[in-house]
Amino acid sequence: MPHPIRILPESLANKIAAGEVVQRPAAAVKELLENSIDAGAKAITVVVSRGGKSLIHVVDDGAGMGPGDAALAFSRHATSKIATLEDLERITTLGFRGEALAAISSVSQVEMRTRRPEDELAVKIRIDGGLLRESVPDAAPAGTSIIVRNLFYNTPARQKFLKTDAAEYRQICDVVQRIALAHPSVSLKFLNGEDTILDLRPSGLAERVSAVFGPKLARTVFPFEDEAPDMSLRGFLGAPDFTRKSRADQYLFLNNRAIVSRSLNHAVFKGYEHLLEKGSFPFFILYLSIDPRKVDVNVHPSKSEVKFGDEGSVYRFVNSAVRKVLSEHDLIPAAGITASDTQRSGEDTIFMQPAASSGPRSTDWRELIRTHSTRDDPAAGGYAAPTPRRKVPAPSVREPSADVKSEEEGMAPGASSPQGALWQIHNKYILAPVENGIMVIDQHAAHERVLYEKAVARFDDAVAGVQQLLFPHTFELSPADAALVAELLPYLAGLGFSVKLFGKTTIVLDGVPVDIKPGAEKTILPEILDLFKEDSHDVRLGPREKLAKSYSCKAAVKAGDPLNTAEMHSLLDQLFATKVPFVCPHGRPVLIRLSLAELDRRFGRTS
Ligand code: ADP
Ligand code: MG
Repeated sequence: MPHPIRILPESLANKIAAGEVVQRPAAAVKELLENSIDAGAKAITVVVSRGGKSLIHVVDDGAGMGPGDAALAFSRHATSKIATLEDLERITTLGFRGEALAAISSVSQVEMRTRRPEDELAVKIRIDGGLLRESVPDAAPAGTSIIVRNLFYNTPARQKFLKTDAAEYRQICDVVQRIALAHPSVSLKFLNGEDTILDLRPSGLAERVSAVFGPKLARTVFPFEDEAPDMSLRGFLGAPDFTRKSRADQYLFLNNRAIVSRSLNHAVFKGYEHLLEKGSFPFFILYLSIDPRKVDVNVHPSKSEVKFGDEGSVYRFVNSAVRKVLSEHDLIPAAGITASDTQRSGEDTIFMQPAASSGPRSTDWRELIRTHSTRDDPAAGGYAAPTPRRKVPAPSVREPSADVKSEEEGMAPGASSPQGALWQIHNKYILAPVENGIMVIDQHAAHERVLYEKAVARFDDAVAGVQQLLFPHTFELSPADAALVAELLPYLAGLGFSVKLFGKTTIVLDGVPVDIKPGAEKTILPEILDLFKEDSHDVRLGPREKLAKSYSCKAAVKAGDPLNTAEMHSLLDQLFATKVPFVCPHGRPVLIRLSLAELDRRFGRTS
């Protein structure tokens, strides 16, 4: 049963983070929606027009207010949600300040109808600029309907600070979206004027996420749940190809309240380490539950900043949960998430290898089994400490001459390449035994990653390696394609393509990047252009990134290309020298790791 509304005693009112609650329409919408949720509404409708400046109308089917309470609700510090200091220390409602209705009604024209289910008649109240104009019984459904007209009509200075209708509307959308995500069991309708923007039925979390963001997104996020002794976390993490160029798509909820927390955002971001390109941010929706007594929501008037009793432990919990999820989806090597700090950096520990000189060559499978089963004793097993990340790029994977060299000779002298046994399966995947398990590498994705980073580096350095062609190729292009080539000319040159334009539609190609495999000179350029065009709708990427992406995809070895051992070594060597070895430029995983523990589990072994 809700408490009656009371005016907070001054001593308690003074303890509440002071400041203005309603600075823009979106803030008013947020406060009204929070009131509906706090009133236990099961269905809410929001209508706004002109970015909320001319109208905000919120209707709910919640507890309503009695005739005595309705007018009181508009006084400052009038709230039914807390009464004592102890209440302030364990807040479970979204509101508690008793300021929103007072603030909104002092700068707008409000009309409210409210009725408790047990009352026969509703109360209708009209307030203009803080002055009570009317309070009369009226007929209305149970629940509360509040209409806010002409926000800031009596504060011209404030009105001038409002942005365009469209900009204010966008902020309202964000508020409504966050409320929708925080309360999936509440049915929510959102209209902009006549247009229905959202019409959400009560549902579970996953269904709500899919209804808000569309089913396509719902398929690119990983759902998960995790628990610690005094907190729990559930939610959805975007796959690395779903990264954004800003932090706008990061949704964080604490006890069903949308909050902002730089520290927790960072905890998530760090969990994605090595998976993200520079300047991109993961998409996530996270619901954190912590005992309300261990968090303070009373630090800012907007109530969206919070203070954790033990911020460090919340940070570590969130960070490790994220790393766990990503590793379970085989996006980061399991070695990267072991608790021991000495083993932290995945890229350095993942690739254990036999010592180049002392160890026997492990091409014999019997030898392999012996060395791997005695890996605890490096001397006996021929295992050395992991080689530090190579800084010098190894020779191109597809060195034309590599095909005829023996394995031994295929390696650059002195190169610290991993020399463990490698297998290519189905001309598609490379299989490598690693510490505590095996690693499966997608050869195309791996090479794509290598070439992509090389391409980006070349754009920056402007020193492209060009192979001059003995016989230049002449292409006839459509006018549109020729125009595209003209536009991309400097970038193509940056990559190592030597292209000349003749007339409107003829181009001559007389040099290609050194990485292009022999025989592909003729087809590579048109293929890259086609892929570039396919990607052209992607406004997140500039022409450089798009070109680097299409180039790396087309120039990389394909599934179906046989690789000899030297080529596989060279590829892995280069892969682990890249900045982001675990995902290809399109965000697909480059490698997965199958741990011995996982194999043991599947074989029903206990050890
Ligand atoms: P607060 O939410 O911080 O208590 P408000 O100014 O937003 O302060 O609201 C004042 C009081 O009015 C609330 O405590 C609540 O009792 C009542 N109230 C406001 N909106 C509603 C609603 N939609 N349904 C029922 N009661 C409401
Ligand atoms: Mg409120």
